[in-house]
Amino acid sequence: MARRIAPGQTLVLASHNRGKLREITALLRPHSVELVSAGALGLPEPAETAPDFAGNARIKALAAAEGSGLPALSDDSGFCVAALGGQPGVFSARWAGQAKDFDVAMGMVKDRLGDRRDRRAWFIAALCLAWPDGHTETFLGRIDGAVTWPPRGAKGFGYDPIFVPAGDHQTFGEMEPDQKHAISHRARAFAQVLASCFAGRPDPHP
Ligand code: IMP
Repeated sequence: MARRIAPGQTLVLASHNRGKLREITALLRPHSVELVSAGALGLPEPAETAPDFAGNARIKALAAAEGSGLPALSDDSGFCVAALGGQPGVFSARWAGQAKDFDVAMGMVKDRLGDRRDRRAWFIAALCLAWPDGHTETFLGRIDGAVTWPPRGAKGFGYDPIFVPAGDHQTFGEMEPDQKHAISHRARAFAQVLASCFAGRPDPHP
C-alpha cells in the first residue's frame, strides 16, 4: 500500500516554477496540509539529469525531502509534439533558455513544425512524493490535444497559449484556472496522488 500524508502535515513543494506552485497550491487547497516551497526554505534546485519525467520528478522530490527533513512533492512536466518526435519533452523548460522566455520556446515549436500537417501534441506531468528516508511514490498524468498558432491567452504559463486540448476550442492560456484544473495533465496525476497518498476527506469549503 502507498505511504500516506496525514492531515495537518507539512509538505514541501519541490518546485521553483511560479506557474506550477500556483496550480499545485490550488489543487491541494481542500486537503488541509501545510505547504512550504523549496525556494522559501532556501533549498537549491538539483540538476535534472534523468532521461524521463518520472526520473526527474524523483530527483527533485528526493533532494527537497532530504534537504528539509520533510515529505516533499515535485512536478516534472513538459510539452510534447508528435511531429517533433516528442520534443521539447523533458527539455521544455530548457527550450525557453536562461531568460525563461516562453515566447522564444513557442516560436521554436512553430518554426520546427514548419508546414507539417500533423499538429498533435500533449502535456505530461510526473508527480513524485518523497520522504526523507528515501521512500518515493510517483504518478503520471497526460492530456492530448493540438498545437495552434498564433499563441492565444495569458491565463496560464509556459506553452499554454499554443495548446488546445482535444474536444476544446480554447487554448489552456485562455481557460480559467478551474477549467484547466478539471482536465490538465497535472490534475490527472494529482487525482492519483490524492487517492493513493492523502488520508482524510477533502474540506469542501477550504
Ligand atoms: P520542469 O518540469 O521544471 O523541467 O519544467 C517543465 C516545463 O514544461 C515548464 O517550464 C513549462 O514550460 C512546461 N509545462 C509544464 N506544465 C505545463 C503546463 O501546464 N502549461 C504550460 N507549460 C507547461
